[in-house]
Amino acid sequence: MKKIDISKKYNLPSDVKFCKKCVISNQRPRIIFDKDQICSACRYFDYKKTIDWKKREEELKNLLDKYRSNNEDYDCVVPSSGGKDSAYVAHELKNKYGMNPLTVTWAPLKYTDIGWENLINFNNSGFDVIMGMPQGDIKRKLTKHALIEMGDPFQGFIYGQVLFPVTIALRFGIKLIFRGENAEAEYGGSPDSWNKKFLPFEDFKKIWFSNYSLDFWLNKGFTKKELRFFYPPAIEELQNKKCDSYFYGYYRNWSNHSNFYYASKNTGFKPNNRRTEGTYTKYSSIDDKLDTFHHWFALLKFGHGRCTSNAAREVREGYITREEAIALVQKYDSEFPSLYFKEFLEFTNLNEIEFWEIASAWRNERLWELKGNDWVKKYSVK
Ligand SMILES: [Zn+2]
Repeated sequence: MKKIDISKKYNLPSDVKFCKKCVISNQRPRIIFDKDQICSACRYFDYKKTIDWKKREEELKNLLDKYRSNNEDYDCVVPSSGGKDSAYVAHELKNKYGMNPLTVTWAPLKYTDIGWENLINFNNSGFDVIMGMPQGDIKRKLTKHALIEMGDPFQGFIYGQVLFPVTIALRFGIKLIFRGENAEAEYGGSPDSWNKKFLPFEDFKKIWFSNYSLDFWLNKGFTKKELRFFYPPAIEELQNKKCDSYFYGYYRNWSNHSNFYYASKNTGFKPNNRRTEGTYTKYSSIDDKLDTFHHWFALLKFGHGRCTSNAAREVREGYITREEAIALVQKYDSEFPSLYFKEFLEFTNLNEIEFWEIASAWRNERLWELKGNDWVKKYSVK
């Protein structure tokens, strides 16, 4: 496989820098560093402290009043895997604000036991769940080709995760979709995104699909029929039915930690009994066995992995110090996800040689160097 020029492809700055407040580097696509070398996610966190959250809640109530159902019909869709964040959104909408949400789950590639248990607990706590599960053979093929073409095995999954709730909302005549946090603002996009209440459908491609539309796959040997479940609704249908995707994190002060406590208390959410490979946390994105490969390939491309993202968030929220975050990153960030490696190979129908060839093509050698038999980061957070 041909070596990919990652820095060029993602337009990454040539001078590698780390945020002085958290531990993220400027190699994260679309993140912005200011003159004091502080990242836009940290700046957004400071900005959030100045927001009048009471006023935002009033805005939320006004919005909900416009959509609230007066009969037994659903009035909003919450895309939900049964994880802590969506559980918090759905539960609060129902129990604090009197809405009637329909929750929509896009099935993980391979459920973990704890992920399935959390979905059942969530379902038992009072939610109707519709699950989308595309044909297994196509899902697996798409995962394999997404890995080869984009260096991210989850790119196929993301289409369904983002678009399937929209399709369901349209079929049920629901005009309001609540997604969780505005990830662009929360984790380091442009300050233009800080006050966005919702993401227009036209922006989905840029933000979530790394500028690849589903049509790209038609040229790679997939048929429209095979990808039916992944396909977006027609723009005209969306416009006619006026179905909007709002960020819950615009209206309520978003915190992964608080969401965890909220979901534990209210929807029976349980953390894993061991930490996720590549990081130290036990409660974030624990429902898919193959998810660790999404993060590991990001590590190859951008030089920072899942631990960096988790630790950066916790520094911002004041749960750990920057020094503690650096120690965690040194310990866990580069860890290879060996626990489900065999299952990943089986799922994608790749052998080990093919896997390492793909990994080699997507490893950004501007950020990595080979020392003996080990690839080590050229730049580490200090
Ligand atoms: Zn930062």
